[in-house]
Amino acid sequence: MAPGQVPGAATFVARGIRKAFRRGQQVVPVLDVPLFELARASTVGLSGPSGSGKSTLLNVFAGILQADAGEVLVGGASQTALAPAERDRFRARHIGYVFQTFNLLPPLSAVENVMVPMAFCTVISRGERRERAMNLLAQVGLATRADRLPAELSYGEQQRVGIARAFANQPRLVLADEPTASLEPGLKHRIAELLVQCCASVGASLLVASHDEAVLGHMQRVERMERINRRAGGME
Ligand code: ADP
Ligand code: MG
Repeated sequence: MAPGQVPGAATFVARGIRKAFRRGQQVVPVLDVPLFELARASTVGLSGPSGSGKSTLLNVFAGILQADAGEVLVGGASQTALAPAERDRFRARHIGYVFQTFNLLPPLSAVENVMVPMAFCTVISRGERRERAMNLLAQVGLATRADRLPAELSYGEQQRVGIARAFANQPRLVLADEPTASLEPGLKHRIAELLVQCCASVGASLLVASHDEAVLGHMQRVERMERINRRAGGME
Protein backbone atom coordinates (compact mmCIF):
# COMPACT_ATOMS: atom_id res chain seq x y z
CA MET A 1 0.00 0.00 0.00
CA ALA A 2 1.32 3.42 -0.88
CA PRO A 3 1.75 5.69 2.16
CA GLY A 4 -1.48 7.33 3.17
CA GLN A 5 -3.55 5.37 0.68
CA VAL A 6 -6.55 3.33 1.72
CA PRO A 7 -8.65 1.26 -0.63
CA GLY A 8 -12.30 2.30 -0.82
CA ALA A 9 -14.06 -0.42 1.15
CA ALA A 10 -11.93 -0.35 4.26
CA THR A 11 -12.47 -3.33 6.47
CA PHE A 12 -10.20 -3.56 9.46
CA VAL A 13 -8.83 -6.98 10.28
CA ALA A 14 -6.46 -8.05 13.04
CA ARG A 15 -5.10 -11.49 12.29
CA GLY A 16 -2.92 -13.69 14.47
CA ILE A 17 -2.10 -10.84 16.85
CA ARG A 18 0.14 -11.70 19.77
CA LYS A 19 1.51 -9.24 22.26
CA ALA A 20 3.41 -9.79 25.49
CA PHE A 21 4.81 -7.29 27.97
CA ARG A 22 7.97 -7.68 30.00
CA ARG A 23 7.50 -7.37 33.74
CA GLY A 24 10.95 -7.57 35.31
CA GLN A 25 12.32 -10.99 34.33
CA GLN A 26 8.87 -12.21 33.34
CA VAL A 27 7.26 -12.07 29.93
CA VAL A 28 3.51 -11.74 30.36
CA PRO A 29 1.36 -12.63 27.33
CA VAL A 30 -1.55 -10.20 27.01
CA LEU A 31 -2.98 -10.73 23.54
CA ASP A 32 -3.49 -13.84 21.46
CA VAL A 33 -6.21 -12.84 19.02
CA PRO A 34 -6.58 -15.22 16.08
CA LEU A 35 -9.05 -13.02 14.23
CA PHE A 36 -10.91 -9.81 14.88
CA GLU A 37 -12.77 -8.06 12.08
CA LEU A 38 -14.49 -4.73 11.79
CA ALA A 39 -16.69 -4.18 8.77
CA ARG A 40 -16.76 -0.82 7.07
CA ALA A 41 -19.05 1.68 8.84
CA SER A 42 -19.89 -0.77 11.61
CA THR A 43 -20.06 0.07 15.31
CA VAL A 44 -18.58 -2.47 17.69
CA GLY A 45 -18.22 -2.53 21.45
CA LEU A 46 -15.28 -4.28 23.05
CA SER A 47 -16.13 -5.44 26.54
CA GLY A 48 -14.22 -7.44 29.08
CA PRO A 49 -12.77 -7.20 32.55
CA SER A 50 -9.99 -4.83 33.50
CA GLY A 51 -6.67 -6.26 32.35
CA SER A 52 -8.17 -8.36 29.55
CA GLY A 53 -6.22 -6.43 26.91
CA LYS A 54 -8.82 -4.00 25.52
CA SER A 55 -6.53 -0.96 25.48
CA THR A 56 -3.64 -3.02 24.16
CA LEU A 57 -5.78 -4.28 21.27
CA LEU A 58 -6.95 -0.73 20.47
CA ASN A 59 -3.34 0.45 20.46
CA VAL A 60 -2.31 -2.37 18.14
CA PHE A 61 -5.20 -1.44 15.84
CA ALA A 62 -4.05 2.18 15.89
CA GLY A 63 -0.46 1.23 15.16
CA ILE A 64 0.64 2.92 18.41
CA LEU A 65 1.86 -0.47 19.65
CA GLN A 66 3.64 -3.02 17.51
CA ALA A 67 2.38 -6.59 17.96
CA ASP A 68 4.96 -9.34 18.44
CA ALA A 69 3.25 -11.36 15.73
CA GLY A 70 0.37 -11.04 13.34
CA GLU A 71 -0.86 -8.15 11.26
CA VAL A 72 -3.48 -5.47 10.97
CA LEU A 73 -5.03 -5.18 7.52
CA VAL A 74 -6.95 -2.19 6.25
CA GLY A 75 -8.97 -2.89 3.15
CA GLY A 76 -6.78 -5.95 2.58
CA ALA A 77 -3.48 -4.02 2.81
CA SER A 78 -1.09 -4.58 5.68
CA GLN A 79 -0.65 -1.65 8.02
CA THR A 80 1.88 -3.70 9.97
CA ALA A 81 4.26 -3.77 7.00
CA LEU A 82 4.57 0.02 6.92
CA ALA A 83 7.75 1.71 8.12
CA PRO A 84 7.27 3.59 11.42
CA ALA A 85 7.05 7.04 9.83
CA GLU A 86 4.49 5.81 7.31
CA ARG A 87 2.53 4.13 10.07
CA ASP A 88 2.42 7.44 11.97
CA ARG A 89 1.19 9.23 8.86
CA PHE A 90 -1.38 6.51 8.30
CA ARG A 91 -2.66 6.87 11.85
CA ALA A 92 -2.84 10.66 11.67
CA ARG A 93 -4.76 10.44 8.43
CA HIS A 94 -7.14 7.54 8.94
CA ILE A 95 -7.61 6.89 12.64
CA GLY A 96 -9.33 9.03 15.25
CA TYR A 97 -8.77 8.28 18.95
CA VAL A 98 -11.01 9.22 21.86
CA PHE A 99 -9.43 8.86 25.31
CA GLN A 100 -10.93 8.13 28.71
CA THR A 101 -9.39 11.27 30.21
CA PHE A 102 -9.84 13.41 27.08
CA ASN A 103 -6.12 14.30 26.63
CA LEU A 104 -6.81 17.84 25.50
CA LEU A 105 -3.87 20.25 25.42
CA PRO A 106 -4.47 22.65 28.36
CA PRO A 107 -3.10 25.87 26.83
CA LEU A 108 -5.16 25.51 23.65
CA SER A 109 -8.80 26.52 23.22
CA ALA A 110 -11.43 23.97 22.20
CA VAL A 111 -11.23 24.93 18.53
CA GLU A 112 -7.42 24.87 18.59
CA ASN A 113 -7.48 21.40 20.16
CA VAL A 114 -9.70 20.17 17.32
CA MET A 115 -7.27 21.67 14.80
CA VAL A 116 -4.22 19.88 16.23
CA PRO A 117 -4.55 16.62 14.21
CA MET A 118 -5.11 18.64 11.03
CA ALA A 119 -1.55 19.96 11.36
CA PHE A 120 -0.18 16.40 11.26
CA CYS A 121 -1.33 15.75 7.72
CA THR A 122 -2.24 17.69 4.64
CA VAL A 123 -5.78 16.46 4.08
CA ILE A 124 -7.36 19.68 5.37
CA SER A 125 -5.68 22.74 3.89
CA ARG A 126 -4.40 25.40 6.25
CA GLY A 127 -7.06 27.89 5.20
CA GLU A 128 -9.91 25.46 5.93
CA ARG A 129 -8.83 24.20 9.33
CA ARG A 130 -10.50 26.66 11.65
CA GLU A 131 -13.81 26.57 9.81
CA ARG A 132 -13.80 22.77 9.75
CA ALA A 133 -12.99 22.64 13.47
CA MET A 134 -15.85 25.06 14.16
CA ASN A 135 -18.21 22.84 12.16
CA LEU A 136 -17.10 19.78 14.12
CA LEU A 137 -17.65 21.61 17.40
CA ALA A 138 -21.11 22.61 16.20
CA GLN A 139 -21.82 18.95 15.41
CA VAL A 140 -21.12 18.01 19.03
CA GLY A 141 -23.14 20.97 20.31
CA LEU A 142 -20.22 23.18 21.35
CA ALA A 143 -20.35 26.04 18.85
CA THR A 144 -20.56 28.56 21.67
CA ARG A 145 -17.63 27.06 23.60
CA ALA A 146 -15.01 27.18 20.86
CA ASP A 147 -12.75 29.75 22.53
CA ARG A 148 -12.76 28.20 25.99
CA LEU A 149 -9.76 26.43 27.45
CA PRO A 150 -10.25 22.81 28.56
CA ALA A 151 -10.17 23.90 32.22
CA GLU A 152 -13.14 26.17 31.51
CA LEU A 153 -15.24 23.27 30.21
CA SER A 154 -17.15 20.54 32.06
CA TYR A 155 -15.96 16.94 31.71
CA GLY A 156 -18.82 16.18 29.33
CA GLU A 157 -17.87 19.18 27.20
CA GLN A 158 -14.22 18.20 27.23
CA GLN A 159 -15.11 14.75 25.97
CA ARG A 160 -17.23 16.28 23.22
CA VAL A 161 -14.17 18.31 22.17
CA GLY A 162 -12.25 15.01 22.21
CA ILE A 163 -14.84 13.50 19.88
CA ALA A 164 -14.74 16.49 17.52
CA ARG A 165 -10.93 16.22 17.45
CA ALA A 166 -11.11 12.50 16.57
CA PHE A 167 -13.00 13.45 13.40
CA ALA A 168 -10.60 16.23 12.40
CA ASN A 169 -9.15 14.41 9.39
CA GLN A 170 -12.23 12.46 8.24
CA PRO A 171 -11.02 9.15 9.67
CA ARG A 172 -11.95 5.67 8.47
CA LEU A 173 -11.77 4.23 11.96
CA VAL A 174 -12.49 5.77 15.34
CA LEU A 175 -11.15 4.04 18.42
CA ALA A 176 -12.54 5.06 21.80
CA ASP A 177 -10.99 3.72 25.00
CA GLU A 178 -13.51 3.84 27.88
CA PRO A 179 -14.74 7.21 26.61
CA THR A 180 -17.39 7.59 29.32
CA ALA A 181 -15.48 6.26 32.33
CA SER A 182 -14.70 9.78 33.59
CA LEU A 183 -18.24 11.05 33.06
CA GLU A 184 -21.33 11.11 35.22
CA PRO A 185 -23.97 8.49 34.34
CA GLY A 186 -26.37 11.01 32.79
CA LEU A 187 -23.87 11.83 30.05
CA LYS A 188 -22.98 8.31 28.95
CA HIS A 189 -25.85 7.83 26.50
CA ARG A 190 -25.27 11.26 24.96
CA ILE A 191 -21.57 10.59 24.37
CA ALA A 192 -22.24 7.13 22.90
CA GLU A 193 -24.91 8.60 20.62
CA LEU A 194 -22.56 11.33 19.46
CA LEU A 195 -19.83 8.82 18.63
CA VAL A 196 -22.27 6.72 16.60
CA GLN A 197 -23.76 9.76 14.83
CA CYS A 198 -20.39 11.28 13.96
CA CYS A 199 -19.17 7.93 12.57
CA ALA A 200 -22.34 7.50 10.52
CA SER A 201 -21.97 10.99 9.07
CA VAL A 202 -18.58 10.13 7.52
CA GLY A 203 -18.99 6.36 7.07
CA ALA A 204 -16.29 5.60 9.64
CA SER A 205 -16.13 2.40 11.66
CA LEU A 206 -16.24 2.65 15.43
CA LEU A 207 -14.58 0.43 18.00
CA VAL A 208 -15.33 1.30 21.63
CA ALA A 209 -13.71 -0.40 24.61
CA SER A 210 -16.07 -0.11 27.54
CA HIS A 211 -17.60 -1.93 30.49
CA ASP A 212 -20.52 0.38 30.32
CA GLU A 213 -23.86 -1.13 29.29
CA ALA A 214 -25.13 2.40 28.56
CA VAL A 215 -22.45 2.65 25.88
CA LEU A 216 -22.41 -0.94 24.64
CA GLY A 217 -26.17 -0.78 24.04
CA HIS A 218 -25.59 1.77 21.26
CA MET A 219 -23.29 -0.52 19.28
CA GLN A 220 -24.42 -2.86 16.50
CA ARG A 221 -22.31 -5.65 17.96
CA VAL A 222 -20.47 -6.32 21.19
CA GLU A 223 -17.40 -8.53 21.31
CA ARG A 224 -16.17 -9.92 24.58
CA MET A 225 -12.42 -10.10 25.09
CA GLU A 226 -12.81 -13.51 26.70
CA ARG A 227 -14.11 -14.76 23.35
CA ILE A 228 -11.65 -13.15 20.95
CA ASN A 229 -8.51 -13.13 23.11
CA ARG A 230 -7.13 -16.46 24.31
CA ARG A 231 -5.06 -14.58 26.90
CA ALA A 232 -7.89 -12.59 28.45
CA GLY A 233 -7.41 -13.30 32.13
CA GLY A 234 -8.05 -10.04 33.90
CA MET A 235 -9.98 -9.29 37.06
CA GLU A 236 -13.62 -8.42 37.28
P1 ADP B 1 -7.68 -3.40 29.71
O1 ADP B 1 -7.67 -2.18 28.84
O2 ADP B 1 -8.63 -4.46 29.24
O3 ADP B 1 -7.90 -3.07 31.15
P2 ADP B 1 -4.86 -3.45 29.11
O4 ADP B 1 -4.75 -3.68 27.65
O5 ADP B 1 -4.65 -2.08 29.60
O6 ADP B 1 -6.24 -4.06 29.63
O7 ADP B 1 -3.81 -4.36 29.87
C1 ADP B 1 -3.74 -5.77 29.72
C2 ADP B 1 -2.61 -6.31 30.56
O8 ADP B 1 -1.37 -5.85 30.02
C3 ADP B 1 -2.64 -5.86 32.01
O9 ADP B 1 -2.24 -6.94 32.79
C4 ADP B 1 -1.63 -4.75 32.04
O10 ADP B 1 -1.04 -4.66 33.31
C5 ADP B 1 -0.62 -5.19 31.02
N1 ADP B 1 0.05 -4.05 30.38
C6 ADP B 1 -0.55 -3.12 29.59
N2 ADP B 1 0.35 -2.23 29.12
C7 ADP B 1 1.54 -2.60 29.63
C8 ADP B 1 2.88 -2.10 29.51
N3 ADP B 1 3.16 -1.02 28.77
N4 ADP B 1 3.86 -2.76 30.17
C9 ADP B 1 3.59 -3.84 30.91
N5 ADP B 1 2.37 -4.38 31.06
C10 ADP B 1 1.36 -3.78 30.43
MG1 MG C 1 -7.99 -0.19 29.25
